[in-house]
Amino acid sequence: MSWTAALQEALKDGLGQRVSLASGDLAGHAHDEGVPFTSTPGAVVFAQSEADIVATLAVAREFGIPVTPWGAGTSLEGAVLPAPGGISLDLGALDSISDLDPVGFTVRVGPGVRRVALNRRLRPHGLFFPVDPGADATLGGMAATNASGTTTVRYGGMRENVMTLRVALMDGRVLDLGSLARKSSSGYALKQLLIGSEGTLGVITSLTLRLHPLPPATVSAQLAFPDLAAAVSASVALRGLGLTPERLEFVDADTVAAVNRHRARHDPELPTLWVELAGRDTADAEAGLSLLREVATDTGGQVVGEARTPEAQGNLWAARHGVYDALRAAWPGHATRIGDICVPLSALAETVAFMTRTLAQHSLTAPLVGHIGDGNLHLLMHAPPEDAGAWARIDHALHDIALYALSVGGTCTGEHGVGLRKRVYMREEHGEALDLMRDIKTLFDPQNLLNPGKVVGELD
Ligand SMILES: Cc1cc2nc3c(=O)[nH]c(=O)nc-3n(C[C@H](O)[C@H](O)[C@H](O)COP(=O)(O)OP(=O)(O)OC[C@H]3O[C@@H](n4cnc5c(N)ncnc54)[C@H](O)[C@@H]3O)c2cc1C
Repeated sequence: MSWTAALQEALKDGLGQRVSLASGDLAGHAHDEGVPFTSTPGAVVFAQSEADIVATLAVAREFGIPVTPWGAGTSLEGAVLPAPGGISLDLGALDSISDLDPVGFTVRVGPGVRRVALNRRLRPHGLFFPVDPGADATLGGMAATNASGTTTVRYGGMRENVMTLRVALMDGRVLDLGSLARKSSSGYALKQLLIGSEGTLGVITSLTLRLHPLPPATVSAQLAFPDLAAAVSASVALRGLGLTPERLEFVDADTVAAVNRHRARHDPELPTLWVELAGRDTADAEAGLSLLREVATDTGGQVVGEARTPEAQGNLWAARHGVYDALRAAWPGHATRIGDICVPLSALAETVAFMTRTLAQHSLTAPLVGHIGDGNLHLLMHAPPEDAGAWARIDHALHDIALYALSVGGTCTGEHGVGLRKRVYMREEHGEALDLMRDIKTLFDPQNLLNPGKVVGELD
């Protein structure tokens, strides 16, 4: 019997029908949403329980075969691609929601629970889970990438909103990390180490999440500005006034134009901020809005839309949420690549100016979108897949921008993770700490089998 056949038999022995060798399943787990290449696994395990995860890791250990956890496959930097011929461990079926505690504001979820489904379950209890990456990702995948989104400016990302993690390690142990206490000074912060480790240190088998009450009153506003610099200075000014919006998002003029065309809207085609403010009651939220109007005027902009009811707010925010689809529709047949950097708020204006200059230098146009309240900026690069010249210029521009972010004290990735593509910046960003990270990887996974090559892996 060949080595591959022996592995497949061992998997089937332990996991039966949960193992798939079907070509459709293999192809479906060979790509993510961001990188232009594929890497096909030799088997997909559709885990139904924690015991299945532990059994899969045991077979991987025995045969020395790589395993890559799979949530929803929406990540953008190659993190979820399996090693060729390795195991893709699909956790999507582990989607239980339990132990909802409306007093302690916590809920326990399986790693395969999708964020939209979770919030649908929480809404009748007056609660929500705030972290909202643009895609309908799994909570396990979101923890593994330390995901964030439009509400991070107010509630933080996954590191701030995961209370406990249960994690299966390569050596067969299953550990409970963190606690339900609001604070703790006890021991090393292993939970935080696992969050953002992109499946390289352990497989998350369940999580307890921190919930939040739905705000009693909210008001949303859309602000338009004559130029990028004015929009950026407004975003910084309103933080300086002590306004902590629920959301604070930014897009440039071309993006508004693309959304107008795609959704038959008539928003002013200018650099735009979307802001949501919450209050104890309507008057409190309205007071925040008055302050916001003043900030807009002082920075040369104006409020071009206000929304108070859930329907009106949905309509106002639809323009922001429709950005990705609108951009794909604007350039049919083009492939996309999303740049993701995060810089200190004090460096935002100069970074936006650098990005604009860099695009021009490389003869590129790309919509600029940002979770600007966090200093997190995305460039949505696009070109025909076969246009090698354009892709070389895109790579060059994104490289320059990532290095610039590091030079001003920022990071090469605010939320999309390192995966395969951002490994090239790890030494520049972390210096000797990268060696310690590699030692930690070896401690957790001495055979280098768990999502090998990602995050701290050597460059090929
Ligand atoms: C249109 C679009 C918009 C996006 N916007 C945002 C955004 O605003 N903010 C943001 O943060 N991201 C964003 N993303 C990226 C992506 O949605 C996030 O990275 C998300 O957290 C990935 O979750 P997933 O379930 O799809 O994970 P996957 O892509 O399946 O996996 C991601 C990584 O986590 C690992 N992993 C998955 N599950 C587990 C587990 N249970 N245990 C251990 N490791 C695991 C995988 O091995 C892989 O390394 C966007 C993506 C798209 C396509």
